[in-house]
Amino acid sequence: MKTQTGIRQKISTNGKSNGYRTHGKLKTSIWEYSKSVEDSKHIQLKSEYDLFIGGKRIKTKKYFDTINPSNEEVIAKVAYASDEDVNKAVNAAAKAYDKVWSKISAKERSKYIFRIARILQEKAREFAVIESMDGGKPVKESKSVDVPLAIAHFFYYAGWADKLELAFPGRKVSPLGVAGQIIPWNFPLLMAAWKIAPALACGNTVVIKSAETTPLTLYKLAEVIEEAELPEGVVNIISGDGATGAAIVRHPKTKKIAFTGSTEVGKIIMRQTAGTDKKLTLELGGKAANIIFEDAPVDAAIEGIINGIYFNQGHVCCAGSRLLVQESIKDIVIKKLKHRLKSLRVGDPLDKNTDVGAINSKMQLNKITELVQSGIDEGAKIYQSECQLPSRGYWFRPTFFTDVAQSHRIAGEEIFGPVLSILTFRTPAEAVEKANNTCYGLSAGVWTDKGSKIFKVLSKIRAGVVWSNTYNKFNPASPFGGYKESGFGREGGKHGLEGYVK
Ligand code: NAP
Ligand code: MG
Repeated sequence: MKTQTGIRQKISTNGKSNGYRTHGKLKTSIWEYSKSVEDSKHIQLKSEYDLFIGGKRIKTKKYFDTINPSNEEVIAKVAYASDEDVNKAVNAAAKAYDKVWSKISAKERSKYIFRIARILQEKAREFAVIESMDGGKPVKESKSVDVPLAIAHFFYYAGWADKLELAFPGRKVSPLGVAGQIIPWNFPLLMAAWKIAPALACGNTVVIKSAETTPLTLYKLAEVIEEAELPEGVVNIISGDGATGAAIVRHPKTKKIAFTGSTEVGKIIMRQTAGTDKKLTLELGGKAANIIFEDAPVDAAIEGIINGIYFNQGHVCCAGSRLLVQESIKDIVIKKLKHRLKSLRVGDPLDKNTDVGAINSKMQLNKITELVQSGIDEGAKIYQSECQLPSRGYWFRPTFFTDVAQSHRIAGEEIFGPVLSILTFRTPAEAVEKANNTCYGLSAGVWTDKGSKIFKVLSKIRAGVVWSNTYNKFNPASPFGGYKESGFGREGGKHGLEGYVK
């Protein structure tokens, strides 16, 4: 049955589907959306991408494929940067710093960053589609979160470039030189904006490396940078793997390393930069507690839980992956959550109706599967959405676990997938104790009707970012970063400038 809004209701009566409700015989009733696939004809992609160094396209000895994780098809071949290529990129950035970027006025720097923001704005739709193709995230998210936030970061830092004396009153700050930047695959363009915009605003030049599975929007950004006529070598964009990242870290001319990725690699980088003159900021993993008190607006909290863990397939460092629910409302929360999971649409990232897209890579899918199996083996109770998964590509059903003990791996380790661990508490003190019982400290959420409880609880939680009665909200003016093994240094806001000056 097709309604005027384009929504089809499929009704199955005793296994037969006649499209009509038959009183007394109704077995299941599934609302199904008609497909609404984002047009991708306007997308301009090349079959091969070379490194972007010194304003030129540089060929390399080796190329690798980047695929679309929702259908496993190769989208393009991408250059692999060796140690020698990294050296070229860093030298190009050092030359641009010495000859051009450190000499032009702050006002000029501001204009270039502003231009990048404006051009990105014009190409927003193309960027959103490519981000979803390369990484698997729903296009509705890349359109409404990744791309607009990336643009907002460029606008925001364009504004700071000529006002640094206001950001650091009474102090005279100067740039560091070449910033080496390494980003992960979960928010490629956005992470690039978080890093490039403040670096340029403070007068540094950049060598940035995309993650192996998601290089495309960075190479599209290279086209924007060219169009903005940024002086050659001010931003150099390269691709490769972990070894490429390590070469950026090791290079004697990179004076700043900004890394977003796993705690494991963060620790390696910290060891490598210890005792050098490199300034370091690390944005690492997380295992955030999303705390629901019995006086919370439950339906709003359910949406917050869903957004907290299933947004971007749970590939979110600040995901609300540990739900702490007050015991008295546990049953109603779980019941409502099960109901809500039924309406989450999993599938084609380019379909505008999709809520949960593809898992970014085979490797990540294996990691999620292994951790979920450990949850089952250790005795937690699993609940998964019954949605139909596409036959090709990498997929994982939205999942949650109940009966989770704090000692379970799924309660302590970052799963980085659409998997929620539910624990309970009785008193606010117990909630705080459990929320802090983690080696991470990136984010947290609290849901309650009482303003005083929000402040009392959140002030005791060791997390860099906290949300109350909402979750996963970002703004370029607000600093983001972690405590403990979630890293140090802040990105965003005035604080985000500190990592790029001395
Ligand atoms: P990852 O394996 O640490 O990789 C991150 C980046 O580092 C990638 O570009 C990677 O290259 C590169 N890399 C790998 N080994 C390296 C080495 N020895 N030296 C220098 N660079 C190296 O992390 P991921 O799996 O891509 O990303 C997921 C992790 O990022 C999660 O733990 C998540 O929590 C964290 N994250 C944190 C934030 C935050 O702001 N705190 C934001 C997003 C993600 P290749 O990919 O090419 O191998
Ligand atoms: Mg890819």
